[in-house]
Amino acid sequence: MSAHTTEYRTSRAALDAVAKVSTGTFIDGQWGEAASGARFDVVNPATEEVIATVADGGPEDARRAIETAGRVQKQWAATPPRERGEILRRAYELIMQRQDELALVMTTEMGKPLAEAKGEVAYAAEFFRWFSEEAVRIGGDQTMTGDGKNRIMVSKEPVGPCVLVTPWNFPLAMGTRKIGPAVAAGCTMVFKPANLTPLSSLALVDILIEAGLPRGVLNVVCTKKASSVVGPWMASGIARKVSFTGSTEVGVRLLEQAAQHVMRSSMELGGNAPFIVFEDADLDRAVDGAVAAKMRNMGEACTAANRLFVHRSVMSEFSRKLAERLGALSVGDGAQDGTDVGPLVEAKALDKVQELVDDAVARGATVECGGSRPDRPGFFYKPTVLQGVDPDSKLMSEEIFGPVAPVIPFDSEDEVLELANDTPWGLVGYLFTQDVDRSFRVSDALEVGMVGLNTGIVSNPAAPFGGVKASGLGREGGRVGIEEFLEYKYVAVPRG
Ligand code: NAD
Repeated sequence: MSAHTTEYRTSRAALDAVAKVSTGTFIDGQWGEAASGARFDVVNPATEEVIATVADGGPEDARRAIETAGRVQKQWAATPPRERGEILRRAYELIMQRQDELALVMTTEMGKPLAEAKGEVAYAAEFFRWFSEEAVRIGGDQTMTGDGKNRIMVSKEPVGPCVLVTPWNFPLAMGTRKIGPAVAAGCTMVFKPANLTPLSSLALVDILIEAGLPRGVLNVVCTKKASSVVGPWMASGIARKVSFTGSTEVGVRLLEQAAQHVMRSSMELGGNAPFIVFEDADLDRAVDGAVAAKMRNMGEACTAANRLFVHRSVMSEFSRKLAERLGALSVGDGAQDGTDVGPLVEAKALDKVQELVDDAVARGATVECGGSRPDRPGFFYKPTVLQGVDPDSKLMSEEIFGPVAPVIPFDSEDEVLELANDTPWGLVGYLFTQDVDRSFRVSDALEVGMVGLNTGIVSNPAAPFGGVKASGLGREGGRVGIEEFLEYKYVAVPRG
């Protein structure tokens, strides 16, 4: 076997880590096969090899899962908050103890470099620690009516059984960001992880069982055909809430289904983040920010800088510096030492990125670095900087979801704000300036749920993550994260 063929294969260590993951359906505390007996493949995007098969659930599995969640809801809601919090706290510890192994599983199914995968594991665990502390602080309220004749007592209750659906790009954190607050609030769950990356979520199930999560509280069904599982859950009349992270297109479909049963809905959807560099910015800091906001997760992030607006007077210097940085990154299997940039998740993603780059170039953009895929197996794309991008290019209005940084010149603050807000999405915006007044003025004017001010990184479990416009409804994390899983009950009491 040549050195190259070995290099392009999944390592024994990675296969061993993957082999430890339970790959069934998990319903009512039991691992099992799908009712149909079917399984689907999970592929390593760095090598295109099948690394595991997972039980391919369908309507029958979905029915059993949601009925279980409905049956145990009352008992789970009555569990003391401290107990619920301690389960999360133990799960946090267990995740951190297994950080290396979980990261290797994640890299092998999704592609991101190991260092980033380890970062995501810690970020994912932190949601459990955060919500373990929130479980005992749910609180309530007591006040009086304006005329002083009645007491108003307000308590908070779990919303009820929840449908959780997550994307492939952050295979662990998107799950813990929902499971953490649901457990803390006392909600039962049915959970469908993304079919491209089910293994990280399935590994989490064993951790939660070990941490003491009671039988039936969390039920997991993976599937190749999402609607065959999520559809029955949404139509069941048992689920009281849906918490979804994924594309706006699917989010809208789920909102339509949620409307049939007037279900609470949290939607973390797509983005089209503007990244604005003003003429007075510290340019090196802005380049650092752009590398972080663009290259995290190979650009496969809802928070990825999608449109880099750079003042015309500094555009060439900024583009040159950014191209130097991105061009020097090493592209390869994320499980290998020294890799900065892993593969995209699947071949379809690669085709889309190439199509967007070709369109921008056809409209006059200059390729400063990259612009093509390397000659090797796996779904790799070279980090790319495009300068002088025409605002009518397709990548201005679509999520690129790849390592491509389009740089668009602007001349004035008003002009860039108009361009930045000219999108149906509103998840996050980044701005780089040293002018204090401008930093607040522009933060206020951006139509987004989050702003990175002189930084390219915005997510933290202690902060309310989420967007406006087509980027979603509700927030995950922070003080408000648990509220998404709670209902208010007002009891009127005459004052004796
Ligand atoms: P996707 O919408 O295709 O899939 C998300 C999940 O929904 C997957 O589990 C998928 O199997 C499931 N799904 C697909 N069709 C469905 C249907 N008809 N009914 C029910 N479920 C269905 O998105 P994706 O490609 O997995 O993820 C990328 C998208 O997620 C991007 O748009 C990205 O911006 C977004 N995202 C948003 C956030 C956020 O916090 N706002 C975070 C990460 C990703």
